[in-house]
Amino acid sequence: MDFTEEQIERYSRQIVLKEVGGRGQKKLLDSKITVIGCGGLGSPITYYLTAAGIGSIKLVDFDRVDLSNLQRQILHYTSDINKMKTQSACEKLTQLNPDPEIQIINEVLSSHNVKEILQDSDFVLDGSDNLPTKLLINDACINLGIPFTIAGVLRFNGQVLTVIPQKKTTCYRCVFGDISGNTASVSCSQAGVIGLIPGAIGCIQANEVIKYLLNIGDLIINRILMVDFLNYQFNFIKVIRNDDCPACGENPVDLINNYDYKIDDACHG
Ligand SMILES: [Zn+2]
Repeated sequence: MDFTEEQIERYSRQIVLKEVGGRGQKKLLDSKITVIGCGGLGSPITYYLTAAGIGSIKLVDFDRVDLSNLQRQILHYTSDINKMKTQSACEKLTQLNPDPEIQIINEVLSSHNVKEILQDSDFVLDGSDNLPTKLLINDACINLGIPFTIAGVLRFNGQVLTVIPQKKTTCYRCVFGDISGNTASVSCSQAGVIGLIPGAIGCIQANEVIKYLLNIGDLIINRILMVDFLNYQFNFIKVIRNDDCPACGENPVDLINNYDYKIDDACHG
């Protein structure tokens, strides 16, 4: 392994783990991930994966830092208000660890750019705040054969689902079906959330990536982790793959080019 002295010291607490070792650290340094959203979930995801030495991290966000973000989006400081979130994130992450190559993309993820943005990733993390974007990530990753983890947070609750297309595990669309027309779904801005909830859920998403890359432990596949932080209930709900699912089923449809994700309504409505 050709680590520098500094890298050996920086990563010593994880290299010493038998599940990681020098080989595992090399694997992390050689891996490329994409994180959609530099907000409440994206903050812990990118902090911990940057600290762990993931080699290449692509940050996708179209938004600017707002005062009301700071209660939970801990990548951003008061002095960052009005700055692009990707820029603010990149500044913190490169200070934390200069090893990862950080790439920033200031675009709304849409059916027009999703494949190009995600295609060279080893793993994709959803840190978005709306259902249409989660469906788009699901459909594109399955089409491209890229593993990914999707999460949601609301009030005192969080959920996580990981999907491994190569293993044909249950996808987000299998579980939630066609939700793009569901205008009744509420976002955090309407329902509220305690800031540490996306913090804790984002950490679980980051854990999924590390375990997937190192091929250790059990992933949250074919089940959804449901966490209630108010009463400390941690439950897994079994979810079964739908053979007729248009994304992951036996006869998949070209959803990216044919499905109306209504992303613009979700992101700017
Ligand atoms: Zn499916």
